[in-house]
Amino acid sequence: MIEFAGVCKQYSRHAAALSDISLSIAKGELAFLSGPSGAGKSTLLKMIAAIERPSSGAIRVNGQDISRLNRPGIPYLRRNLGLVLQDVSLLTDRDVLANVMLPLLVTGTPSAEARARAEAALDKVGLHGKAGEEPLALSGGEQQRVAIARAIVNRPQIILADEPTANLDRTSAARVMDALLAFHQAGVTCLIATHDEDILRGAGRVIRLEQGRLVSGAQAMPRAGSA
Ligand code: ADP
Ligand code: ADP
Repeated sequence: MIEFAGVCKQYSRHAAALSDISLSIAKGELAFLSGPSGAGKSTLLKMIAAIERPSSGAIRVNGQDISRLNRPGIPYLRRNLGLVLQDVSLLTDRDVLANVMLPLLVTGTPSAEARARAEAALDKVGLHGKAGEEPLALSGGEQQRVAIARAIVNRPQIILADEPTANLDRTSAARVMDALLAFHQAGVTCLIATHDEDILRGAGRVIRLEQGRLVSGAQAMPRAGSA
């Protein structure tokens, strides 16, 4: 579903942010991306969404070589991705439901259908009762769950989340993770960057980066019984 082959990323005039990264993530897999601040986690996620381009190497998403993607191809790529980036970026001039409807409205979904699907997405993250609230009236964890609802409302095959539990207390962090894991259970491929030790302790596959290099987790975890 996601494949990196010898990917390097160098921001201009800086040391390499990522060096020779090769990994693959299977359809339906749940993988965590860990490593200290500055290790290259955000850069790796942004390259999957073609927000950043690799300096060299190839990236395939759903069989498509996205390093060669042209401008019109980018919205098609992103329609298959649910992005939960580090700045939650909810629009504060409209309510929670309108924020979640937005990705559907920009792709031309009729508003009655967009409303129904946005309500369903809020339901899935446990926020059905908050649809009419202003985003700023919600807690940090609730805002993060609104961002997750917005990311999945287009029914993407892949969710990419960058430090989704940063700055949250343990209870809120657990709710955010439960929301993400429920999508994994439903078959969505999930890649979650975190340095939250509580989360990583129980995690299956952890892809670890240090100073732009992949130090472990390049291969999927063997399935139980196949070892
Ligand atoms: P992480 O998410 O693990 O903290 P990042 O991917 O944000 O790591 O950063 C990896 C490296 O790339 C860091 O050295 C960071 O300073 C650098 N970097 C990230 N974004 C940019 C940018 N837009 N311009 C220049 N350097 C950047
Ligand atoms: P637009 O200008 O239409 O918002 P983008 O290129 O930012 O275009 O995103 C295209 C699609 O990718 C959106 O319709 C949305 O479904 C998804 N998307 C992109 N970024 C996000 C995000 N931060 N949260 C949720 N969905 C996003």
